[in-house]
Amino acid sequence: MSHPDADVVVPESGRPVVLRGGTVLTMDDAHTVLPGADVLVVDGRIAAVGQQLEVPQGTAEIDAGGGIVMPGMIDTHRHMWQTAMRGYGADWTLTQYFVWYYLEHGRAFRPEDVHAGNLVSAWDALEAGVTTTVDWSHGLQTVDHAEAAVDALSAVPGRFVLAYGNIQAGPWEWTADPAVRSFLERRRTGAGDRLGFQLAFDVTGDPAFPEKAAFEAARELGLPVTTHAGVWGATNDDGIRLMHEHGFMTPETVYVHAATLSTDSYHRIAATGGSISVSTESEQSAGQGYPPTWQVRRHGIPVSLSMDTSVWWSGDLFSAMRTTLGADRSREHLEAHARGETVTHVQLRAEQVVDWATRGGARALGRDDIGSLEPGKRADVVLIKNDASPVSFPLLNPYGHVAFQAQRGDVHTVLVDGQVVKSAHRLVGADLGAVRRTVDATVEHLRSTLGEETWTQGMNPDLPGAEVLDNPYTYTEYKSASTHDARGSVFGDDTPAG
Ligand SMILES: [Zn+2]
Repeated sequence: MSHPDADVVVPESGRPVVLRGGTVLTMDDAHTVLPGADVLVVDGRIAAVGQQLEVPQGTAEIDAGGGIVMPGMIDTHRHMWQTAMRGYGADWTLTQYFVWYYLEHGRAFRPEDVHAGNLVSAWDALEAGVTTTVDWSHGLQTVDHAEAAVDALSAVPGRFVLAYGNIQAGPWEWTADPAVRSFLERRRTGAGDRLGFQLAFDVTGDPAFPEKAAFEAARELGLPVTTHAGVWGATNDDGIRLMHEHGFMTPETVYVHAATLSTDSYHRIAATGGSISVSTESEQSAGQGYPPTWQVRRHGIPVSLSMDTSVWWSGDLFSAMRTTLGADRSREHLEAHARGETVTHVQLRAEQVVDWATRGGARALGRDDIGSLEPGKRADVVLIKNDASPVSFPLLNPYGHVAFQAQRGDVHTVLVDGQVVKSAHRLVGADLGAVRRTVDATVEHLRSTLGEETWTQGMNPDLPGAEVLDNPYTYTEYKSASTHDARGSVFGDDTPAG
């Protein structure tokens, strides 16, 4: 395959790298944008950002001219194991998802299947410029599954957080399992800062609050909790209230979706300093509730973005930024129209969703050393540049360009911790053939275990009968006219027959 940049040489690991002459979105506190600027990376850190930098001898140069240089993006909630079923649930609702994964077929996943899903998902993230991904890993039925999940994440040169979970048991059960505890202690030791850990479980709102023991385990282990909160029909204000009353709402807690919560719950989240992980594409399609940014931004609650699962959606945050802007603005217009008003100036700006996709994720994970391009920070860097695409110019509004124009194919170069992991539009060191074979084996296992009929039905949910309204303007003659060749009405009667 020929590509205009195919002859680019990937700098060896450890060599300083400079990205020259791009439009740099630093995402520092002031959101400084530097046109025609360089980003110098030395020893895994951002060494300097500015125009015409002097660089150490032997520095590898990457031409960022005409492109956008920005911090690596951060996805704070992704069920990476499910990527082994990429696209299978495109027409699901949350109910079909729950039945498939939680109640019926999710337990057919073996450790090697979790490994396969995580492996393809991890490369998928890097390919899209997502340098840090939280693996909301709730398919860990055994510690062997967990070992497989971490092994896969460790095999890919990105930053990951294993959010340990197990939907097949109560969180008060698996967090008490000595094997789980020793796994977490063992794999955290010497893991380095490319691998973090959280505990992942949901709070049902049961007044007995059985999840209390799981929160206590998290506290003992020193691990943050991430929880699906405010999910229509599953989790609600009671769970938030119980967490608050028992003192388990902390600044490092991540509330995923938070779409069907009352003002009181948002107050409790804001007051305790936690953040919300918004998965707009998921909320819109699966039904957790209306994507909540239009509400949470009024409470000053920090936001990060996430893609949830590739059983429906692609794992790139361009999509998250785009749909989050769309959903927020859509709601703002709708609310105004209901009052007979017109929105003349939208509240949510492209700049803000770029912030959420970078700094917002870093803040949610308690990582003040990533999420912006400033000297001293770890060098997670993305270059968006595609000279072969007419979409790459003119580059007038860089935040708008990132949010509404760019897509994963425009991600030219990705660095994680100073290491080039994507170069000239190609992943570095990824044996996608081998990854594909492991995913194929998983699909084959699931398909043969479930049987062809169950497999097909799972992918094609029953279609409810569609309501078609009587139309008072539809008359017999009009109907017969509408069945004629469309050209008759478009081009007029004298159009020659084709
Ligand atoms: Zn989720």
